[in-house]
Amino acid sequence: MTATPPPPPASTPVPPKYRVLVGIEVHLQLRTRSKMFCRCPVRFGSPPNTLTCPVCLGMPGALPVPNRDAMLMALALATAMQCELAELTKFDRKNYFYPDLPKGYQISQLDRPLGSGGVIEIITEDGVRPIRLQRLHIEEDTGKSLHEDAGNVSRVDLNRAGTPLVEVVSEPDITSAAEARAYLTALRALVRYLDISDGNMQEGNLRCEPNINLHIEGPGGTTIKTPIVEVKNVNSVRNVGRAVTLEVERQLAEYAALGPAVADGHRSTRGYDDTHDRTFLMRRKEDAHDYRYFPEPDIPPITIGSAWLREAAERVPELPHARRARFVEEYGLSDYDADQVCRERPTADFFEQAVKAGAGAKPAANWMDELNRHANERGAPLDQLGVGPERFAALVKMVEAGKIAHKAAAREVLPRMMETGEEPEQIVDELGLGQIDDSALLWSAAQDAIDQNPKAAADFRAGKEQALGALMGLVMRETGGKANPKVVRRVLVEILTESDPEN
Ligand code: ZN
Ligand code: MN
Repeated sequence: MTATPPPPPASTPVPPKYRVLVGIEVHLQLRTRSKMFCRCPVRFGSPPNTLTCPVCLGMPGALPVPNRDAMLMALALATAMQCELAELTKFDRKNYFYPDLPKGYQISQLDRPLGSGGVIEIITEDGVRPIRLQRLHIEEDTGKSLHEDAGNVSRVDLNRAGTPLVEVVSEPDITSAAEARAYLTALRALVRYLDISDGNMQEGNLRCEPNINLHIEGPGGTTIKTPIVEVKNVNSVRNVGRAVTLEVERQLAEYAALGPAVADGHRSTRGYDDTHDRTFLMRRKEDAHDYRYFPEPDIPPITIGSAWLREAAERVPELPHARRARFVEEYGLSDYDADQVCRERPTADFFEQAVKAGAGAKPAANWMDELNRHANERGAPLDQLGVGPERFAALVKMVEAGKIAHKAAAREVLPRMMETGEEPEQIVDELGLGQIDDSALLWSAAQDAIDQNPKAAADFRAGKEQALGALMGLVMRETGGKANPKVVRRVLVEILTESDPEN
């Protein structure tokens, strides 16, 4: 007989050791003028079925012609992600039936994708980490089924059918919710830098499906692999993190209930339910789908020649990681500040122009959050706020020179600059916001504060530095918040240390 170790008591479960493996598939709509295989415009919000033709309606005999611009955009992305570029690429038919797929197949790429391998660098609190990529390929989008609440009716809108998509598939290198969020953030920044897609998840032009499973350390040094779960309907960076967290919890609970038998389960697809913050089962994959792929007979294979490669490379600007490194080197920003500023190209551009116009790099970097907040509130891009980098730099310089308090600049001057287009100096004058540097006035306000609160003064003299806060508060109130806090502090300390009554 072999002795079996007693199971741990149910009241004190030992959490198993495990690794989280997440691979992410992203579908990205390219911002081309026309569709992937026909000349219909790519546009959102037109009346249903007005942007269609025999090709994207799947009429017999209609012939697809690949969109050169879409090919170049995809090549630029593959170049930026350091994929190995195909010399010869081809399209394939992926056959399946769905009401919003009029041809009964999707034109995609199977064995000769445009790009293979490659990497996306992500930044988390733990630093920079490369996430390896499997592939990048081009395909076409489907139409949209519209399910109406009343009348049991479903309609199909084919305006989106044939919109160019790039699919990017990562290796399962992502190991946490934070890394999943960082991956999407990095990919989105990349496509926006390349100016090939809006990369907007809410509007569905960047769609993501994380594949999640666990490798659990089982009894006797075995590794128990939970079945891979693919999560659909994830429509924000935040929700990708939620989907990963929820799946890890759920798969651990399943292991707690089933033990090693959990590994015998089937792969499955779950949906993410935003309202209830949970995932729910959509379908189990008993067998792999059989899409009966075969080469698209209507599109000959395409040779990617040197002219194409050159044109694609020309479309690749200085990318976020290179720009980050340069901002650290050239402007002395911290890694954190450089990362914040470089996440979006318009922010990095605005920042750099402001610094060239004389703003200090560190203060300008700190201000970018404030500017982006205004941009978000107004739903306007940074370059349409009514405050260009030059006038913004003038405001930052005034704060740096102590001519106005940061708070007043952010709360009063910047919003008014955006509204009226006035110069910051003018607004500061009009609103009387200039910081009080008049030392005579400050000295008397400081002396008043000390007289009013002798206890705080005594505490400070006894070595309690926090006591200064109460006195500073009094002076700031007395001066209507216009005193320069640094000067107030200096004046108070000077008075308190020099006229110590005990000396
Ligand atoms: Zn069409
Ligand atoms: Mn796909």
